[in-house]
Amino acid sequence: MDNNSRLFEQAKKIIPGGVNSPVRAFAGVGGTPRFIQKANGAYVWDEDQTQYIDYIGSWGPAIVGHAHPEVIAAVCAAAQEGLSFGAPTANEIRIAEEILHIMPSMEQVRLVSSGTEATMSAIRLARGFTGRDNIIKFEGCYHGHSDSLLVKAGSGLLTFGHPSSAGVPEDFSRHTIVLPYNDVEAIQQIFAQQGDTIAGVIVEPIAGNMNLIPANREFIQALRSLTHQYGSVLIYDEVMTGFRVALGGAQSLHGITPDLTTLGKIIGGGMPVAAFGGRADIMKCISPLGSVYQAGTLSGNPVCVAAGLKTLEIIQRPDFYTTLSARTKQLSEGLLALAQQAGLPFSSRHIGGMFGFYFTDNLPDCYHDMQNADLSLFKRFFHSMLARGVFFAPSAFEAGFVSIAHSPVIIADTLGLAAESFTEMTRGI
Ligand SMILES: *Cc1c(COP(=O)(O)O)cnc(C)c1O
Repeated sequence: MDNNSRLFEQAKKIIPGGVNSPVRAFAGVGGTPRFIQKANGAYVWDEDQTQYIDYIGSWGPAIVGHAHPEVIAAVCAAAQEGLSFGAPTANEIRIAEEILHIMPSMEQVRLVSSGTEATMSAIRLARGFTGRDNIIKFEGCYHGHSDSLLVKAGSGLLTFGHPSSAGVPEDFSRHTIVLPYNDVEAIQQIFAQQGDTIAGVIVEPIAGNMNLIPANREFIQALRSLTHQYGSVLIYDEVMTGFRVALGGAQSLHGITPDLTTLGKIIGGGMPVAAFGGRADIMKCISPLGSVYQAGTLSGNPVCVAAGLKTLEIIQRPDFYTTLSARTKQLSEGLLALAQQAGLPFSSRHIGGMFGFYFTDNLPDCYHDMQNADLSLFKRFFHSMLARGVFFAPSAFEAGFVSIAHSPVIIADTLGLAAESFTEMTRGI
């Protein structure tokens, strides 16, 4: 038995499903998860010493490449000074200043330790600020695993959602309205009916949790103008897209100023840092100034902040995003050309350092469209590439990530292997 299989058997006995976060279990594609021993640049190595070109990047954070020497040095230096103090530090001011500088919509920011905490706190804040209970989210968007946000669409339009997880009372999900993504009419209708009950709207402005699906302009503009009109808080969940689709996130591409923004993933450079922030009049409602409670023993942890600060420094160097976008384009357009040559149903898109590919000829625009993608072709492609040493996300519903360490040669290597996989797949059709 290989080491990955042996470790998976061992893990399953004492860790539910053998993993500490469900998508790692390969449930969407079948097979044995790879236990990763180490990573460097664009590569990861598993416990059988197999090398892979990695397009997961720890699900987004690894934008400067794994184990970047400057980030590692910053972490080691910070660790020497002590791991955690539970008191404010000067570096927390520095990282807050960096974030506010990069995202001008944010006037104040608070650090937390996970994207889940950031969105959960932003929702609580929106409710506390407006004194209203209802929130709107969109089908296919993921905002972490807090109770209010683990809600799926009810049957039919304009119905309140149902819990998408056991353990979430119906009473909680009653306050979460789930609407289809990119559907302007649905959002207009709900605001016309009950706009003055809506505390806030939370949206992935470029969705990355139903594969990569950008919001269209009309939709984004409708969200901004309706929330403004009805005094609801517009929350941009940029935990994935912040510093990823562009330095300033999706809001910099759309030219939209949200009321609150949530950040995570890249902001910690691989360490647990996340944040929420926005309009000062809203942020002042947070304790200790205001009556909305929020706290964290390890919030603003000095070692994590050191990793985040160094990462934010590296991504602001000249040409970082031009280079990253060019590499991502090379991959995304290369895959499309090869799949078309092979005669497979396929489409792809890319924004900044993020890409999506779909085994369907029509680019999906919402969760419903994603249902038309061929999942069995995805699974075959995934395993065929994994066997050749390329690690894509083990689910057709996840976006992919390119890092600055993915050189044109590494991407050309990937495309060469993809050509083999596509050819292999056409034999079986
Ligand atoms: C990853 C993600 C989250 C949750 O972040 P965690 O750090 O996993 O809790 C929330 N929102 C979006 C858009 C994400 O991609």
